[in-house]
Amino acid sequence: MKKNQITIASEVSISGKGLHTGCAVSITLLPAPANHGIVFQRIDLSDKPKVKAHILNVTDTSRSTNLQENGINIKTVEHLLAALAGMSIDNLLIHINAEEIPIMDGSAAHFISMIKKAGTKELSEEREYISVDEVVKFEKPDQGIELLLVPAEKFTMSVMVDYGTSVLSSQYASIKKMEEFVDNISSCRTFVFLHELHYLIKNNLVKGGELDNAIVFVDKKPNPEILEEVQNFFNKKNIQINENGTLNNVKLQFYNEPACHKLLDLLGDLYLLGKPIKGEIIARKPGHFANTEFVKLIYEYLENKGSVKKI
Ligand SMILES: [Zn+2]
Repeated sequence: MKKNQITIASEVSISGKGLHTGCAVSITLLPAPANHGIVFQRIDLSDKPKVKAHILNVTDTSRSTNLQENGINIKTVEHLLAALAGMSIDNLLIHINAEEIPIMDGSAAHFISMIKKAGTKELSEEREYISVDEVVKFEKPDQGIELLLVPAEKFTMSVMVDYGTSVLSSQYASIKKMEEFVDNISSCRTFVFLHELHYLIKNNLVKGGELDNAIVFVDKKPNPEILEEVQNFFNKKNIQINENGTLNNVKLQFYNEPACHKLLDLLGDLYLLGKPIKGEIIARKPGHFANTEFVKLIYEYLENKGSVKKI
């Protein structure tokens, strides 16, 4: 069945803090016309430059997915893009008054709520989908990383992670339709290992970090000084390690919340193609670098087929 493109029905705003830059930031989602795509606009800068959510604008992927167009940055876009993919929003203008999307609770739940609050509006142009007639694959065998887009009539996605530690080893998450993402996956939060968190704190890389926007796994017995430094950074008392190896800052929603969050991240990164996919996505050990390299391969495949004119 053919479907038309969608935007939101009314504008809606949210405020928060950038996870890495620590900036106070507000974003406003505004309706946009057909074939506009997802575009950010830096309203804090004098000429109000725009940055398109497009795979060719990806720069750094070390801790999040970051975009840059004509020297203008939009950082940590993946959770918002996952919400837009999940809610099938084709066209949107996003006003932002700093360079990083707010982290909120580390999931896509707040962005989904915003879109539900704004409502959706059908446009008169037909939606185009991305499909392939052969498998597109990105792999890094030495790290066990493999991401595939397999030809199929409808969109499905499955993700496997394996951190090889006793507190977080092999996990799996999958969706057979987008509603499952919105209902079950979109609230799954980002996660970090305690030793990584300690490194990030030491190097001033999580200026906007709060202990309520990430699950913290403790994979080896920490030295008490590390726990104390983390405790002091977040200005919290009584930080302890739960029996399941997580810090007692947040409770897991599902035993496989990390795998679900990796699915969320990949869905967001895939939306840098600008259109929804009809096909089966299978990913082993995804991450922002692998995800965006995979998306580039899909983009190149489509470009060679001459079927990405409207992106
Ligand atoms: Zn994430």
